[in-house]
Amino acid sequence: MSKNEIPYKIYLEESEMPKSWYNLRADMKNKPAPLLHPGTHQPLKLEELTPIFCEELAKQELDDTTPYIEIPEEIRNFYKMYRPSPLVRAYCLEKQLGTPAKIYYKFEGNNTSGSHKLNSAIAQAYFAKKQGLKGVTTETGAGQWGTALSMACAYFGLDCQVYMVKVSYEQKPFRREVMRTYGAKVTPSPSDTTNVGRAILKQFPGTTGSLGCAISEAVEAATSQEGYRYVLGSVLSQVLLHQSVIGLETMTALDKYGIKPDMIIGCAGGGSNLGGLIAPFMGRKLRGEADYQIIAVEPASCPSFTRGVYAYDFCDTGHVCPLAKMYTLGSEFIPSANHAGGLRYHGMSTVLSQLYDDKLIEARSVEQTSVFQAAEQFARIEGILPAPESSHAIRVAIDEALKCKETGEEKTIVFGLTGTGYFDLVAYQKYNDGEMNDYIPTDADLKKGIDQIPRFPGNLE
Ligand SMILES: *Cc1c(COP(=O)(O)O)cnc(C)c1O
Repeated sequence: MSKNEIPYKIYLEESEMPKSWYNLRADMKNKPAPLLHPGTHQPLKLEELTPIFCEELAKQELDDTTPYIEIPEEIRNFYKMYRPSPLVRAYCLEKQLGTPAKIYYKFEGNNTSGSHKLNSAIAQAYFAKKQGLKGVTTETGAGQWGTALSMACAYFGLDCQVYMVKVSYEQKPFRREVMRTYGAKVTPSPSDTTNVGRAILKQFPGTTGSLGCAISEAVEAATSQEGYRYVLGSVLSQVLLHQSVIGLETMTALDKYGIKPDMIIGCAGGGSNLGGLIAPFMGRKLRGEADYQIIAVEPASCPSFTRGVYAYDFCDTGHVCPLAKMYTLGSEFIPSANHAGGLRYHGMSTVLSQLYDDKLIEARSVEQTSVFQAAEQFARIEGILPAPESSHAIRVAIDEALKCKETGEEKTIVFGLTGTGYFDLVAYQKYNDGEMNDYIPTDADLKKGIDQIPRFPGNLE
């Protein structure tokens, strides 16, 4: 098909939208390692997960054999209000770069929460409501997840309690207002409303918080209130499952025009957007039907894949959550203040960690100022102001397209543009004022976190 026959935006009809999520684990020969009980180090059973998680979501978490899980009609109807998200051919960027590469991006920033996180938030709120719960608790770092969950809870009439990392709570007051408008209760973390929060405040007075710490508080809040469960916006396999809607739409759109991507690129914080975007493509790869180069991009300031270790670790600072086997920098690792709030988590999805260990995906780390240079270039030529997180993927997509210019290869590159930059204008302000720095942790910095990873037979021992 000649270049001009492919539209700028590939649309899908409502009838072409996915009716099931795709569970990549079903096609993985090496399954992700099971979650372990933090005390006994035994794989967690359903009945141990259900006091924390909604029943149906706990089942999805443990299910690594069912390939397709039907999307309930109520969720599909909600998806129809803001999906399918556009798959855009970056003709203008290609021209500016002078590359023979063909670049596509899947833009998830067109809903009020501003990112892909709504895809899982609405699913999690639905299953909580269906179980007859009163409400849910969660943490939020940059604020995208808390916002998405607030919207989803408002829609289903659930109470929503959000523990927001203190530095973001103070830096991003407008995020907080969006959540409050949707009816959520927002508490800066660490707070004095939980035992774990009080303990952390005592040990580290003046701390600006971390995602791991906010998770511990949210879990405590869920387990200490009748009719509440805890929900999480990334990392978990159930979240990757819901996010497969991104990849399924992308695949349908590309297949419609007979386009085969050579390379799929996404930013990786806890791994949910990347896991969702690549899911059906990785399925084809695992079944031997096609091959793709897949690249996870992370900040050089929080390099879980590229400099972490693959081991069982705590998911949270307070060590109340299950142990997960993942690429990790240690639950005590607190990255230097960088401006990709959504990519500051110390660990990585167990699914992506296993795929990375099996060399089925690659990882790159990129520095903050080069990420914002890519963001600026993209905004000026493609119009969309990208989220700093998403701009990690833009950086590598541009780098790869420039390599194609040298070699003359006409590669097809697809990347995930996970969100809008409107909520992160403080970061853009720093960049525009020339005040952004590229702090990269030293080996000694990282050793401190890695030394805190639990040691037990079979785990770093
Ligand atoms: C949260 C977030 C991310 C990172 O989370 P993943 O679970 O790794 O996808 C990326 N981009 C945006 C815009 C986000 O809000």
